[in-house]
Amino acid sequence: MPSAAPVPRSPSVLLLGSAAGLLTTPGCPACRYTSESSETYLTWFALEGHSDPDVLQVLRKSRGMCARHTRRLLAQPGADARLTAVYKYVVAAAVADLGPQRAGCPACAQEAAAADRVLDILLEEFTSATKTEYKLHGGLCLPHLRRAARRTRHHEVRWLLRFMIARLSAPEPDLDLMAGWPDGDADTRARMRAALPPSYPATAPDTCSVCWSSADFERMHLNAVSSGRSAAAPDLLCGPHLRDAADAFGLLAQQAEGQAIRLARALDGQPRLLGIAPGWLSAAARRALADPDCPVCRGSGQAAADELGRVRAWLRRAARPPATVPLCARHATWLHGIDAQAGRLAAGALGDHAARLATELDTAFRMRTWAHRNDSRGPEMNAWRRAAVFLDGSVLGGCLAD
Ligand SMILES: [Zn+2]
Ligand SMILES: [Zn+2]
Ligand SMILES: [Zn+2]
Ligand SMILES: [Zn+2]
Repeated sequence: MPSAAPVPRSPSVLLLGSAAGLLTTPGCPACRYTSESSETYLTWFALEGHSDPDVLQVLRKSRGMCARHTRRLLAQPGADARLTAVYKYVVAAAVADLGPQRAGCPACAQEAAAADRVLDILLEEFTSATKTEYKLHGGLCLPHLRRAARRTRHHEVRWLLRFMIARLSAPEPDLDLMAGWPDGDADTRARMRAALPPSYPATAPDTCSVCWSSADFERMHLNAVSSGRSAAAPDLLCGPHLRDAADAFGLLAQQAEGQAIRLARALDGQPRLLGIAPGWLSAAARRALADPDCPVCRGSGQAAADELGRVRAWLRRAARPPATVPLCARHATWLHGIDAQAGRLAAGALGDHAARLATELDTAFRMRTWAHRNDSRGPEMNAWRRAAVFLDGSVLGGCLAD
């Protein structure tokens, strides 16, 4: 297998280094390059990055990758051996310090940098020839257009907005245009929603009731939108939730219309300035170009906050420190941020849990060595999956690690 590096060595669209080179095939060029670049980064992580001391240091600070990227790591060939080793370090660091996370997901940072590179190249050379190619191949998706518009004061942003409004007004709404593509995580999300227990499995260890509550709201709300039972026309959905509900009759057309109206508002809100006008984005335009306040994201966030409040009250009432708490490390951190006393009680219980996990990860790590090849294996062999859920229960969408 050829070695992979974070920056693709194989020819990629970006090596052409020009806006024209980015606009040779249909579909959003930022989406295309971001997903190529992300794929390369995760392959590099599997081959080399997971044992790189700098990467491990970042993962200790970020407590692993975000839920979406962790799902990608869990699905990679050889993930069991690799993540058993990685989580030995990450779990220990998470419990030693429940303070705020000190780094973001490194794979998300990589994706954001890749997208920004494409947007910069594209807008730096936005000539009339580029415009023709842009029109021919469809250009940026809506999420990347928003990102471009927020990053730049380029006067052509107005042209890009008008072109997007025209595309959103076409008879057949285009899901990839509105949500970005490809969404390799969509099938996994659907499977997790189907597998989510109907009520919180309070007797099962290794579960987070906050993650479960949030996932339960998300499932209920998406079902309501999909079956058209949602009373009012839904507010504008974020990209992933639009994709999750996209089969609902009439939903795409309704959402495309709503998005077009919002963008038109951004154009209307502009003073009549020509050329590159510093600060041309008015406050109203910035609001119109912000990511939509998705009702499913908002509602599941509120469900999580409500449940965290219940766990907090329960901890406050406890006569003695509880042996277990129904929280993942991410939500224990959240609790610690709003109530240090309840957070300390949670940290105590999670510390015991993490110590057990660490022992299992050590055993599993040893079992994979040649000397132990004939030993019988126990539940510790899936400790790497439980470690991922311990760090962040939303990795498996509130489900138990199997
Ligand atoms: Zn895109
Ligand atoms: Zn990420
Ligand atoms: Zn959680
Ligand atoms: Zn959403």
